[in-house]
Amino acid sequence: MNKPADTQKLPSVPMWINGKPHAATSTRSGEVMNPATGRVTKTIPFCNAADIDAAVQAATAALPAWRDAPVLRRARVLMKFRELLEANRNELAQLVTQEHGKTLADAAGSVQRGIEVVEFAMGIPHLIKGEYSEEIGTGVDCHSLRQPIGVCAGITPFNFPVMVPLWMFPVALACGNTFILKPSEKVPSASMKMAELLKEAGLPDGVFNVVHGDKEAVDCLLNHPGIRGISFVGSTPIAKYIYETASKNGKRVQALGGAKNHAVILPDMTANPSDLEFTADALMGAAYGSAGERCMSISAIVAVGAAADPLVAKLKEKASALRIGPGDSKVDGKEMDMGPLVTKVHRDKVSSFVDKGAAEGAVMVLDGRGYKVKGYEEGFFLGATLLDKVRTEMSVYKEEIFGPVLVVVRVETLDDAIKLINSNPYANGTAIFTRAGGAARKFEREIEVGMVGINVPIPVPVAFYSFGGWRNSLFGDQHVHGMEGVRFYTRAKVISTRWPDANAVPQGFNMPTLG
Ligand code: NAD
Repeated sequence: MNKPADTQKLPSVPMWINGKPHAATSTRSGEVMNPATGRVTKTIPFCNAADIDAAVQAATAALPAWRDAPVLRRARVLMKFRELLEANRNELAQLVTQEHGKTLADAAGSVQRGIEVVEFAMGIPHLIKGEYSEEIGTGVDCHSLRQPIGVCAGITPFNFPVMVPLWMFPVALACGNTFILKPSEKVPSASMKMAELLKEAGLPDGVFNVVHGDKEAVDCLLNHPGIRGISFVGSTPIAKYIYETASKNGKRVQALGGAKNHAVILPDMTANPSDLEFTADALMGAAYGSAGERCMSISAIVAVGAAADPLVAKLKEKASALRIGPGDSKVDGKEMDMGPLVTKVHRDKVSSFVDKGAAEGAVMVLDGRGYKVKGYEEGFFLGATLLDKVRTEMSVYKEEIFGPVLVVVRVETLDDAIKLINSNPYANGTAIFTRAGGAARKFEREIEVGMVGINVPIPVPVAFYSFGGWRNSLFGDQHVHGMEGVRFYTRAKVISTRWPDANAVPQGFNMPTLG
């Protein structure tokens, strides 16, 4: 950890307003850390009302010209942006690893998933087309069109510094909106890089802006009358707050929250060695990839009947062998499987969940507490943890832990598993592992969760489908990207047209029926 005086010499991350870096007027600030070393690398301003207003003014001034730009011109800016993201993929992945901690390969994968949303948004000339019906009444035609909603803001979490912002702004910009991004104050640098790349791609100044900060900055965005739409991704309590506050202020809101994702393992998948291996391998990445800091991580296994014993033994064997260290390092020429957690506070919170699980009577199969990496003793590491025979009243089952802690709940039947998952307050993602088509189909139909995998442990929808959960994992009506993203960032208008001519039907006082 740096000494306090050291931080004064560190670079400060600026805002990005009107196509260039912009110093904040706020005197409040925070620190950006490298989680592998535990050192502060940058400082970041916590924007105040004047800073947020400067961004809204820039976005408002840029709106008319961008909204009126031909749709192909908007698409072409995104095509160029896509090329630049590809060319800068490694640098973006490095920024993610330096500030979040995940491994470079994992970071690069998340950049790729973000690029795919840009590819989807490049199709906006087709996606935004309206409908047309001729002669819906005598001499009357009708058409619909979708128009941008105006200045939009995105507030994003720490765990995907590139991908989650890319879930939002490419679609918003393609639709003709202008945008203000407030990335997580823990991982701001990738957003600044994307702002530079947008400028290089030819995006007019003011169309995309970046502000920084904590609750004060977010509240200013939620209360600013110049902002028409808010997209949020983060934890459930804040998502609920964002939804309630922004809706009360008349804004359109989509607020994605936290998760507790279950994987159901049926006994047929543990009955022979190759299926057991396939299942356990899938669960390793799903539970411990990105150190469990993914909203689609599998954090609870529901082992049905005889599946439990062989599965837990296999998971223990594999989780004990995970390579854990700085995300940009290698051991024996091989990349790490897992990096550190994002902050010391978060690492300690996750560790305290393991304490509670042990105290509440869970069986400690693998204990990652106190994990140290040689040469990186100040890093925020935690080893892979596996808890068995977890009961639903335990806090390790009830709460979102958001770390490398996998819990196993044992049930008797598939019906028990479905009932358990449908009773959980979170409903982001879930998966089932089986070769039995009938069981998988029953699961798919009866499970009340937004995103479902069948032998796919992390069923994150591709960009041309929409991403979002149910219950406490999403507040609002529209999911992100895909067609729901286009609907979120546009308003529909329906136009009925009649041109006077010699044959025009006389207009009366009654409700027109047109037929
Ligand atoms: P968080 O809710 O703490 O923060 C998210 C954003 O909200 C950040 O930009 C932060 O600055 C801001 N914020 C924090 N406290 C606030 C407050 N009191 N008032 C207003 N704004 C506030 O989430 P996080 O810790 O950055 O990210 C992890 C969480 O995000 C997990 O719960 C995870 O499940 C969730 N997440 C969900 C999805 C999804 O698609 N559903 C995706 C990624 C992450």
